[in-house]
Amino acid sequence: MTETSAEAKRKLPMRSVLAVVLALVAALAAPCGAEAYQSVDKYVSGGHGYLNASYLVIHETANPGASAYNHTLLWSRDDTYAVHHVMELDGSTVYNTVAENRLCWHVGNGNGYTIGIELAHATNAADFAKQWNEAVKWAGDELRSHGWDTSRLLSHYEAAQRWGGSDHTDPNGYFRQYGKTWYEFKQAVAAYLGSGYVAPIAPTDGNGGTVASSTTTAKTDTSFGGTYRCNTGRLNVRTSPSLSGTVVAGYSYGQTVTLDNWYCISNGYVWGRYTSYSGYTRYVAVGKPTGGYDPNDYLVRVGAAASQARPASTGRSAGRYRIVVGTLNVRSGAGTGYGVVASYHRGQTVNLDGTFVTSGGYVWGRYTSYSGHTRWIAVGTASGAVYTQRG
Ligand SMILES: [Zn+2]
Repeated sequence: MTETSAEAKRKLPMRSVLAVVLALVAALAAPCGAEAYQSVDKYVSGGHGYLNASYLVIHETANPGASAYNHTLLWSRDDTYAVHHVMELDGSTVYNTVAENRLCWHVGNGNGYTIGIELAHATNAADFAKQWNEAVKWAGDELRSHGWDTSRLLSHYEAAQRWGGSDHTDPNGYFRQYGKTWYEFKQAVAAYLGSGYVAPIAPTDGNGGTVASSTTTAKTDTSFGGTYRCNTGRLNVRTSPSLSGTVVAGYSYGQTVTLDNWYCISNGYVWGRYTSYSGYTRYVAVGKPTGGYDPNDYLVRVGAAASQARPASTGRSAGRYRIVVGTLNVRSGAGTGYGVVASYHRGQTVNLDGTFVTSGGYVWGRYTSYSGHTRWIAVGTASGAVYTQRG
């Protein structure tokens, strides 16, 4: 539930043991299968600023019996605590109420990291069982659409424990009311995603990537400073040169910023620095550490784009890589903390897309699987051990 909906909480009707048993039976008997929920756009708010989320948070409304549709009406009148999505009492519909790149106030200090969904609070076991099944599918589909695994799936309670600024414990009590636990929900989502593996909670960062490497070094470079133009629809301005830095502002396409003679490489990006009008030191991602100007850069130096020098990180590029070790794990994220979802064997090849990240002593390369998932393999170690070769 959102931060102020506690007052709306009403005393719950008494639940009989029979009802709980029926809920369990209904949940177990419910068929698995394709998507059944309807996704309906019903935007009620532009949110409270930019959002570049890396986690999904599950809430319950704490409004027993109040429909998701009624929540869309409520948020249309007052969008202060509108959340990105809200699911109907019986799971039949998910209303998309705030765009996922817009900030919602739903988990205290974790707002800047998270997309949220409210589950309307069902008051009977049959509705709950249907909603549970649809919520599992929706959460799985949502994680998949972002290239995330269950390490990015949090309850409001977990989000509150992680970032603070909130004392809510939902949806634990709601699930418990019908004999379910939050861990069972995560397990069901993992099973739906096909891995069955509940990944440990991911380290805090801003973008589904890896935590800033401890080897991040800042460099003074007199050729780096100058005026840059924003080359993307929106570019986050952060309080530190890392995806875990708090987003405090944004640049839009065509706007310019004058960067210092300083840069660092962190989270797979080259970061530039400037001082805001208000006197604060701010950081922006310039682009990937490709070693030079790249058309995908977020900031392009005004007047000298094509010859712009750029620090390189791994010196690797997109293309076919051959496995030269016995077995190589395929993971759902760039780090050994992510689940192993497949493996390659000596002599097999994989086409990597050119994104490489150094994390935990390994250099990770990325590709998209036939099923559309983002996958990572360690192409070698940061200290030079070779697991793959080009060709
Ligand atoms: Zn909540």
